[in-house]
Amino acid sequence: MADRVAVVSGAARGIGAAIAERLAADGLKVGVLDLDAAHCADTVDAITRAGGTAVALGADVSKEDSVAAAVEQLERTLGGPTVVVNNAGILRDNLLFKMSVDDWDAVMNVHLRGAFLLARATQKYMVEARWGRIVNMSSTSALGNRGQVNYSAAKAGMQGFTKTLALELGKFGVTANAIAPGFIVTDMTAATAERVGVPFEEFQRAAATQIPVQRVGRPEDIAHTASFLVSEGAGFVSGQVIYVAGGPRD
Ligand code: NAP
Repeated sequence: MADRVAVVSGAARGIGAAIAERLAADGLKVGVLDLDAAHCADTVDAITRAGGTAVALGADVSKEDSVAAAVEQLERTLGGPTVVVNNAGILRDNLLFKMSVDDWDAVMNVHLRGAFLLARATQKYMVEARWGRIVNMSSTSALGNRGQVNYSAAKAGMQGFTKTLALELGKFGVTANAIAPGFIVTDMTAATAERVGVPFEEFQRAAATQIPVQRVGRPEDIAHTASFLVSEGAGFVSGQVIYVAGGPRD
């Protein structure tokens, strides 16, 4: 993996940061991409301290020019990426009758448009190398979740997007897979707890009782799965959705 370059979106914190750190530990050079390059400093520092190589990339994944500029910067600094992790995400939860068009569009734009733009901007490096790995972040919410009509539609969309990438790019040695996490302890789930007015610890305890393995997930659980999907040995795994949720889907 020493010569491989990865780009991980939404890698300033949470699941994306854990994936970036894990891929760096696996030997990849990593473009740590998030809205503000300055916010990527913690992830880049953690990678560098551990002996890895990383660069901070500031970009809004929903903006075509911004994505193109970040990918060009990565090519100039570490090389063209042949591993792409589409992880950037936001929540704009509300019941259907209260959901604004802006909240619908914002979620679609970051998750789906963002994944499309980053995959499209990087596919040439993978096709040229005749090797590539695309990992897209879905969610158990793809199966439906009250108050998340925008998010669940986007996360189900990520699954169709992934399967089509697998079909189109397989002949170039590129695999595409999705990870569908369940409850993972990050700022995103902390914000949900705050929104519903439950202390985060209590929110986690309640969630754990509903999960077959009786615990909530950690960013490292998702990073471990991403590491497997990116590994050389996973070249025959493509077009799959792996639920990493402590059970079949919760
Ligand atoms: P998080 O802690 O909120 O981190 C998301 C990151 O994405 C943030 O650093 C955020 O930047 C960045 N981001 C947002 N919009 C962006 C944009 N337009 N361009 C570039 N970066 C952007 O979330 P997380 O819990 O780690 O979630 C990561 C992914 O896993 C998301 O796709 C999420 O939907 C998915 N997921 C999470 C869970 C869970 O339980 N946590 C479960 C299933 C799926 P800022 O800090 O600047 O906003």
